[in-house]
Amino acid sequence: MNIHEYQAKAILKTFGVPVSRGVAVLNAKEAEAAAKELGGPLWVVKSQIHAGGRGKGKFKEPEAGDKGGVRLAKSVDEVKAFVNQMLGKTLVTIQTGPAGKQVNRLYIEDGSDIEKEFYLSALVDRATSRVSFVVSTEGGMDIEEVAHNTPEKIITLSVDPATGIMPHHGRTVAKALGLTGDLAKQAGSLVAKLYKAFVETDMEMLEINPLIITKDQNLKCLDAKVSFDSNALYRHPDIFALRDETEEDAKEIEASKHDLAYIALDGTIGCMVNGAGLAMATMDIIKLYGEFPANFLDVGGGATKEKVTAAFKIITADPNVKGILVNIFGGIMKCDVIAEGVIAAVKEVGLKVPLVVRLEGTNVELGKKIISGSGLNVIPADDLDDAAQKIVKAVREAK
Ligand code: GDP
Ligand code: MG
Repeated sequence: MNIHEYQAKAILKTFGVPVSRGVAVLNAKEAEAAAKELGGPLWVVKSQIHAGGRGKGKFKEPEAGDKGGVRLAKSVDEVKAFVNQMLGKTLVTIQTGPAGKQVNRLYIEDGSDIEKEFYLSALVDRATSRVSFVVSTEGGMDIEEVAHNTPEKIITLSVDPATGIMPHHGRTVAKALGLTGDLAKQAGSLVAKLYKAFVETDMEMLEINPLIITKDQNLKCLDAKVSFDSNALYRHPDIFALRDETEEDAKEIEASKHDLAYIALDGTIGCMVNGAGLAMATMDIIKLYGEFPANFLDVGGGATKEKVTAAFKIITADPNVKGILVNIFGGIMKCDVIAEGVIAAVKEVGLKVPLVVRLEGTNVELGKKIISGSGLNVIPADDLDDAAQKIVKAVREAK
């Protein structure tokens, strides 16, 4: 689960991490009050969307101006002007995709004088089963290019969970960033606080870009991008409450209500499958025959008719779906339950695209009988290969 920058900074602050003072606002009136309270003489007006690259982003609407999604203001009036320009507009960044994201909230911050910008992130490294820190002197807005062109400028270190964070980790980070004296001390303390925040809140990723040295020689986190491990959210109701559903895919929200493992993708073939491995194989074989899946969907091992109905409705409601492939290997899941779920969903919402159904395993004969007796225009398939070829053919003929 992702959260906004202003929420991430509030969490980090409770762990003693240095961040700027700031106020999140929803309109120009709140922005004016916030700007006055912060006092200036420099303010930063920051778009709050679940995507990075805001500084270099561009608004779709010309009236939003061409100064990007993060702007420096030198007066309260300028803060107000920026807020009026940016609020409600659609910001397109390297991470939003071409559709962009609507800016519904701005974060007004006390502006910092920057001497130097660094990059620092922490993530769960699955290769080492540890939390790794990634740091670079080349902070700011182009870290992707640094990683690509000069990977030697990026330093990684991992923390042994048995010992936790140690003073040598702080020294390594300080050395990597070329810090000495008091700044090296600050780096050690910062890394320890960030590690504590990371572990105690079950973060999956924490990215500070830029981490800066201010003109008065202090380290500060000027940006913060945080995501949490969804499997651990039950331990953190306060963090779960920060979820902003307007930033998420509506289909994925609906799927999560039914406890379905669903991820929206950008292809044309909707897939309903049981088991994550079979779902992956189904997506692969669709691609092998030249089309792309519109989603990953695992209805699970013991899905009920209601769950299958909900899953089928999410797929059919997606305008990108030009054909549906139901691929079920009945084990604990019975084929007749799937058949009944599909039919119930079609009765409710209709079926405007070709549907290929491949059933195998427990109660397969009963499942096939239910489908063939339903009068539905279903294309039956015998195995995965056959099913994939049939749905690809049907989608292409409909084009
Ligand atoms: P991102 O583009 O989405 O990563 O947004 P950031 O929060 O990183 O802001 C983009 C850039 O704006 C930063 O890399 C800084 O160069 C600049 N910036 C952000 N806050 C301040 C500030 O307080 N003072 C100054 N001078 N620049 C800032
Ligand atoms: Mg940034």
